[in-house]
Order: sequence, then C-alpha cells, then structure tokens
Amino acid sequence: MSRNKNLQFDSKCVHSGISDYEFGPVVPPIYQTSTFKFESAEQGAALFKGEAEGYIYTRMKNPTVEAMENAIAELEGGHKSLGCASGMAAINTIFISLLQSGDHVVCSKSVYGPTLTLLQSIMSKFGVESTFVDTDVDGEIEKAMKPNTKIVYIETPANPMITITNLEAASKIAHKQGALLVVDNTFMSPALQQPFKFGVDVVLHSMTKFLNGHADVVAGIVVVKDEEMYLKMRKTLNQLGGVIDPLNSFLVHRGLKTLSIRMQRHCENAQLVAEYLENHPEVKWVRYPGLRSHPNYQVGLKQHSAPGGMISFELKGGFKAGEVVMNSVKLCALAVSLGGVETLIQHPASMTHLSMGAEARKDAGITEGLVRLSVGIENVKDIIEDIEQALVKISMLEKAEA
Ligand SMILES: *Cc1c(COP(=O)(O)O)cnc(C)c1O
Repeated sequence: MSRNKNLQFDSKCVHSGISDYEFGPVVPPIYQTSTFKFESAEQGAALFKGEAEGYIYTRMKNPTVEAMENAIAELEGGHKSLGCASGMAAINTIFISLLQSGDHVVCSKSVYGPTLTLLQSIMSKFGVESTFVDTDVDGEIEKAMKPNTKIVYIETPANPMITITNLEAASKIAHKQGALLVVDNTFMSPALQQPFKFGVDVVLHSMTKFLNGHADVVAGIVVVKDEEMYLKMRKTLNQLGGVIDPLNSFLVHRGLKTLSIRMQRHCENAQLVAEYLENHPEVKWVRYPGLRSHPNYQVGLKQHSAPGGMISFELKGGFKAGEVVMNSVKLCALAVSLGGVETLIQHPASMTHLSMGAEARKDAGITEGLVRLSVGIENVKDIIEDIEQALVKISMLEKAEA
C-alpha cells in the first residue's frame, strides 16, 4: 500500500490495491476458489493461529477481495476495509458489531429507506432503540443524544432530499458522549468527500453505486480507522457471512480505476442539469449541493470538493406530473439505484420510499412530485434534451385537460 502514498488521488484510483502476483499480471487475478490448500499440518495450524500469512477459506479472506479492500481503504484514507455482499450487508455488519441490547442510535431522518427499516423493525427486536432526527439542522443531534447512545448514523448528502449534514460538528457531538459517528459516503465517494478527515469513525458505501459505477454489481464496504475496530468487524462479518465474492471484487476494483474521471463528469453534467431545472417553469425547486439555493451550501463547500451527481427536484404538478415525466423520458432510464454511467430517474413516492407510508414520507419531506435524478456521464446536451421533452409533456397534458 505504501508505494502509492505520495500519489495524487486520481493516480491512486488506478494503482491502489495492486500488488505482485504470479506471472506478473497488471491487474489482480480472480481467485475464484472457495478454499486454499495448506502445505502441511503445521502451516495449517499456523494460519489458524494467525501466526502465518496466507489464506484459509474465501469467506474469511481471498486475495482478489483483499486487493479491492486495500484499494478502497487507501482511497478513503482509512486503515483497512471489509468487502460485503451489499451496502445493506455492510450496514448490518456495523450495527451488529457495535451495538447490543439496551443501546441507542441517533440516525438521520432522511436516510436510505432500508437503513431506516433495519433500525426500526429489525434492530428494535434485539433491544436497540433509535431516534430519527434532521441531522442537517443545527442542534438536532445534540437534543436526541442519550447516555446510552452508541452510534450517530449519517448520510451526507442524504437520500433522497440531498440534505447535507456537517460532519465535523456531528463528530464532536457524538464523541462528547462517547458515541461513534458512522457515515454512509455512497453519494459522494472518496473522490469528492473523505469523512475520516472530519473525525468520522466508520465509513461505509454501497459499492453498487459510484464505486463500481457500472450498474452491474451489488456490493458494499466498511472502512475503519484502526486495527481494533477492524478485528471486531471482521469477526462479525465472518459469522454473519455477508461477504463479497471474488468476481464482484474484481469488477469493483476495475470500476475504481475510472472513479476520479467518472465523478468529474458526473459533477459537470449534474451542475448543468440542476441549473437548467432551476430555471424551468414546471419545477418548483431543485436540491443540488452545487446550487447556492441549497440550504447547506456553505457546509457542503467545507466537506466535499465537488457537488456530486445526485439531484432532487419537485414538480409543480405533483404526483400526476411525476408520472408523466417517468413515462416520457427516453434516454434517462426509469430505475432505482444510482451512481452508474447511465442517467437514471425515479419517483420516490411511488418507488423507493413507497414502503415508508405516506405519513413517514411527509415527515421526511418526501413530497408527491419529488423526482430524483442520478446524472450519468453521457453528453449533457442529450440528458437535458431528454428531460426537456418529458417536461413539455406535462404542459401538453395540462392543456388537454383544461
Ligand atoms: C443503495 C444504497 C444503500 C444500500 O446498498 P445496497 O448495495 O443496495 O445494499 C445504502 N446507502 C445508500 C446511500 C444507498 O444509495
């Protein structure tokens, strides 16, 4: 790892996690094997005792997985990382490792839907209580802290309202009470935001999104700051079993090589799309960290280097207008997920946040005309043209109904 230490971030994307392999390949081979032969009874024993370097069984450790894990730990500026079968497997690994019955979690109200459900209906069965607050509003985290709060859990920017939480302030509040700050960095990736710089304790990603970047893998990762935390998490992950496999590790590692240039194009495109939307008569408001109209624009400037590829906007025509746009786009794919090279569009009220129920949606500020865009790396002219022709359909429909 140390040989890349002085490289710039985009060079690290290309070179991180690569070590020397038999026959000198320039990329890590896919070690598609479930198990590894021991040379002798003594060597097997030494491996199990942790006295020798090597591999035993792929759920525990695999060279292809390890290469990807090293790469991401290096890009995030962490100590080590743990490849998981999905982003949710990563979140589960963190919760199960760090929490026990009687503990309390403070979590962003505006958060990835299944994360909220995991805390509310699964962790609660094991005696873990959670409070959901607007972590982007000053003072809200502090008010929710209890003597038994063990984790403050934040997404920034957060799903799906693109809310921005001040990481440095949140880490001070968490640490004052002896809690850990866990951050889901999926929306930004380490190319744009490195939470460890702001005192965050654990970083996680759905690698399904920007890290892999090609919408062909489901995977997650936990990045930790020290060996003690690593061993704790590794033990849990070994028992839970939600590990990533060698082939998916290889694909994510390949995706990382273009992370920096992909993120740059995502940001350039999203900025232009957001500005276009902000001036459109069918659009009530736009949330994008690159717009001065974002309520936490200044906080964003301090903690991410560019505004990312995710935009939310509200259609004046509400649910109906949302449906029209969904049914009219041609280039933008009507799909959940995000962070791939192709532009995706979705309507949270009828899709990702449907299971929350109308009441909770309202509470989280998810309105009926809310549309979320994951801006891809196509030519931005084509993206805007596609949205334009879809937005025109709203006024056509309104005229036809009048
Ligand atoms: C997708 C996503 C997850 C969950 O990841 P999976 O890989 O789908 O399990 C968690 N957090 C955020 C912000 C996400 O976008």
